Amino acid sequence: MANPLYDGLFGAHAGKDTPFLHLLDGKTVTHQDFLSTASQIAHVATQLGLKTGDRVAAQIEKSPEALALYAACAQAGLVFLPLNTAYTVDELTYFIENSGASLIVCDSKSEEKLTPVGAQLDAKVETLNADGSGTLMDQAATMPASFETVDRDGDDLAAFLYTSGTTGRSKGAMLTQNNLLSNAQALVKEWRFTSDDVLLHALPIFHTHGLFVATNVTLAAGSSMVFMPKFDLDEIISRMPNATTMMGVPTFYTRLLDDDRFTKELAAHMRLFISGSAPLLAETHVQFEERTGHRILERYGMTETNMNTSNPYDGDRRAGTVGFPLPGVELKICDSDGNALPQGEIGEIEVRGPNVFKGYWQMPEKTAAELRENGFFITGDLGRIDEDGYVHIVGRNKDLIISGGYNIYPKEIELVLDDQPGVTESAVVGVPHPDFGETVVGIIVAEPGQSPDLDAMMGAVRESLARFKHPRKLILMDELPRNTMGKVQKNILRDQYKNMFVAA
Ligand code: ATP
Ligand code: MG
Repeated sequence: MANPLYDGLFGAHAGKDTPFLHLLDGKTVTHQDFLSTASQIAHVATQLGLKTGDRVAAQIEKSPEALALYAACAQAGLVFLPLNTAYTVDELTYFIENSGASLIVCDSKSEEKLTPVGAQLDAKVETLNADGSGTLMDQAATMPASFETVDRDGDDLAAFLYTSGTTGRSKGAMLTQNNLLSNAQALVKEWRFTSDDVLLHALPIFHTHGLFVATNVTLAAGSSMVFMPKFDLDEIISRMPNATTMMGVPTFYTRLLDDDRFTKELAAHMRLFISGSAPLLAETHVQFEERTGHRILERYGMTETNMNTSNPYDGDRRAGTVGFPLPGVELKICDSDGNALPQGEIGEIEVRGPNVFKGYWQMPEKTAAELRENGFFITGDLGRIDEDGYVHIVGRNKDLIISGGYNIYPKEIELVLDDQPGVTESAVVGVPHPDFGETVVGIIVAEPGQSPDLDAMMGAVRESLARFKHPRKLILMDELPRNTMGKVQKNILRDQYKNMFVAA
């Protein structure tokens, strides 16, 4: 009997006093320390009456104990449900109710508000604070440091992860043990992780990137990480000399580039910088290489599938692309019926493989609409594959603009706008238009203290793009609306300008 996820990622390190987490206060948590804490928490969960397959909803700050809760769930056969720390109590209530969680772990500040929610939904409430204090760890401290691992099948659920909610309400993606394990193992190979690696970990652990990519890869490789509560430029810079790798979202890299302390010398001994979760601007890619000599490795994934593609470790890491499908992952560019399109054409990205989730929790219709019977998942992203096999993400299907029968990909226009003097970034959306169905609107964020010339910008667009792609209107905005993962929420922009050309 076995428990593939626990055995593969955690149990493999039993008894080892090798470092797992380097904390900012100078302490180190060894693999065995970590497993002991996890086992103690697993005992608490069992004593609270949780049974195999029960859900544990956790809205907690990043801490070694928070990570041990994930390991405890794996060991006790529970389904881990990490929740974004930015969610309000109302939002949390929805997720707790939707998931049918039996245990809610929150910090002491939220306890008062969540206790009645727990009582109403028949869920226990325990606390865990950023410093490791709280009722969960008080009980854990009295428990034995070993726990008999609960048997699970690779196809059993290991986690629910709610999507980022960029395009609508977040959906609970059901991930199996094998989904997580197979992806971690594939990434270790792809990115050549060894037990000598030290990863700078400044990502949140309620999202696929920080938890199932960064943490699982570290565990699968038996390596260690500098475990930072949040992205802090000073800490990253001071810790880099002791690290070998870093994983981040594109803004991590732009912020590093904005800092003069981030030099070629500082990055010299680093082995690898990886970026994902949102598109890395080609400009960042180029500037990073000029500054450090390193080419950032960009990869592409999502809550529902973990990672799908990666630029090559050896070979050309191409700016503006997300590389090749990972071994075992099939990726095709299709029409809306799932038929593969000729090479080079833009279409919907579909993926199949051991990484693809089981469906959305309690959303059978949505699951059926996005997960084909043949196992391909319709990602909702649009892309193309170039003649060398590199995958390019063109945008999201929902952001595609259809104007007068033409398909318009916002990214193409955004790239031109972003290039104009005085522009920090831009977002292009389609809004209803009486003649064309939809028309193009460009929203521009100016660099601080700049007021870019919108007419000149229109001129530049006219020179580089076909007429049907020209924005009908350019609008200046202080900042783009973003969700807590930092992704631009175009649905909010579309809503804001929906009556610009048609009456309400
Ligand atoms: P929701 O599904 O709730 O609208 P979301 O899709 O933003 O939210 P996530 O699963 O966190 O939730 O994000 C996955 C998405 O992020 C992908 O579908 C893709 O659109 C985008 N993404 C991830 N990596 C990259 C990348 N390297 N380049 C471009 N886009 C990326
Ligand atoms: Mg999505």
